[in-house]
Amino acid sequence: MGKEANLVAILEKEQAVFYQMSDRIWDYAELAFAEVQSSALQADFLEQAGFTVQRNLAAIATAFMAEYTAPGQGKKPIIGICGEFDALPAMSQKEDATHREPLQEGGNGHACGHHLLGTAGVAAAFALKQVLEKANLPGTVRYYGCPAEEGFSGKSFLDRAGVFADLDIALCWHPQQYHCIEKSGALANIRLRYRFLGISANPAHSGHLGRSALDAAELMNIGANYLREHMTPDARIHYAYEDAGGKAANVIPAQVEVNYCIRARKMQTVLDLKKRLDKIAQGAALMTETEVEGHVYAAYADYIGNPVVEERMACHLQNGLPLAYTPEEYAYAMAFRNGMGENNMESVRRNYETIAGLQGAALQEKLKQPICDFLLPPLASNGSTDFGDVSYHIPSGQFYAACFPLGAPPHSWQACAVGKSAMAHKGMLLAAKVLAKTAWDFIENPALVPAAKKAMQAQGITAYVSPIAKNVLPGGKICYDNKKG
Ligand SMILES: [Zn+2]
Repeated sequence: MGKEANLVAILEKEQAVFYQMSDRIWDYAELAFAEVQSSALQADFLEQAGFTVQRNLAAIATAFMAEYTAPGQGKKPIIGICGEFDALPAMSQKEDATHREPLQEGGNGHACGHHLLGTAGVAAAFALKQVLEKANLPGTVRYYGCPAEEGFSGKSFLDRAGVFADLDIALCWHPQQYHCIEKSGALANIRLRYRFLGISANPAHSGHLGRSALDAAELMNIGANYLREHMTPDARIHYAYEDAGGKAANVIPAQVEVNYCIRARKMQTVLDLKKRLDKIAQGAALMTETEVEGHVYAAYADYIGNPVVEERMACHLQNGLPLAYTPEEYAYAMAFRNGMGENNMESVRRNYETIAGLQGAALQEKLKQPICDFLLPPLASNGSTDFGDVSYHIPSGQFYAACFPLGAPPHSWQACAVGKSAMAHKGMLLAAKVLAKTAWDFIENPALVPAAKKAMQAQGITAYVSPIAKNVLPGGKICYDNKKG
C-alpha cells in the first residue's frame, strides 16, 4: 500500500475518535484564550499518541505545540499544521435545529467550525506520525493548537514569539460551504480599543461640571462614518461598544471604550486609515474636553498562499470529491438549504457564476443541491485570518472544505447547528486527508521545499511587521493610568 493510501486508511479507521473529539469541543464552546478543555483534549490525545507536547506555548495558557520526528532521523523538513478551537460569543445554537434556537440564551457557539478545524489538524498529524514512524525518512510533523483566532489574532502573538520560525511549510484549512483553495487576499485587519476618559456628574443639577466619555465616543463614531466615503473600496470599518459607560441615564459616563476594526487588502492601507481614525478620536476628545487613549490589540496580516503548496492541496482536494452522503444525510442538509434566505442563495449564485463559471441548467442544478459537491476555483476571503501572519514568512497553503449547507456562511447559526452532523464530520475527514497527504508530499519529496521557497521569493513578499506594540499582551491587556473620573 502506498503511503498516501496508508494515511487515508488510518484516518478512516480512527474517524470515530476524531468525530468524538470535535463533538466534545463543540459542546465545550470555549471563547478566545479560555479554551482550557478544548486545548487539553487535543494536547493530551497527541501526547498519548507519542508526540512531544509543549504546553503554555509563548506563555499563552491554551496554546501548545505537538511534534514528532522518527527516532534516529533528521528533523527537516518541518511541516506545521495550524489548528484552532475557539468558539464565538452569543452564537449558541441547538444542534440540528433548522430554525434559530439557542442551546443557551446568550451562550457561546461554534459557528465558525473551529472545533472541526483543529480536530482535522490533530487527525492529520496523528496519521502522519504513524506513517513517518515506519517510513525511515527524515522529517518532523507538528500540530499547533492556536487559541483565539476570533477577535484576538492568537497566531500573531505566537508568530511574534517565533514559534513558527523554523517551519519549512505551514498548512491550514477552514470549514466552509464550498470546497476550494483559499486564494491570496484575505483582508489585513487590525483591532483597536479607544478609551475615552471624562468626568462623571449628575446631568440634571451639575451637567456643567461633567465631561461625557459617551458623547466623545458617539462623536467619534459619527466621524468614522463620514470617513467611509473617503476610503478605498476594499476597506471596511466596524465598531462596537466594549463599555458604553454604564446603564444609568442620570450619571454622565466618565469612562467609555469603543472597539474598532479596520480591514483592507493590504496592511499599509489599514495603517493609513488608522492614522485618520486616530485624528477623529482626538477630534472627538477635543470637542468634549475628554481624553482618549488608543491601542492596537490584535492584527491579522493579509494572507498569501504559496503556489507550490496550493498545487498539492488542490490535487488532493479534487481527488477526495465528491463526498458520499446517505439519503438521510442529504435530506438533513436539504432541510437547512430549504430554509436559507434569498440573499444567502444570491451570494452562492454569484460565486457559482463568477468564480466557478457555471451557467444555465448546470448552474440551476448545482444551486438546488443542499451541499457543495465540487471543487471551485480559488476563492479569496473577504474576512481575515491570523494564518496570514504565518504566510508572510513560511510557504503556506489554506483550503476550504464544505462542512456547512449551501447558503450558510461561517458565523451563521446554521453553521453552528450542523457542527456535529455527518456533513460536518465528512468535511472534516476530507480536510484531514488533504492536510496529511499535502504534508506527506513535502516529506517524501523534500525537493518540493526549496521549490516552495523559491516560489515565495518570486512573489516578492516583503517583511511583515505586526502593528501590535510589544507591551500589548495576548488578549490586549495593557496598563492604563486613570487620569480623570
Ligand atoms: Zn473561523
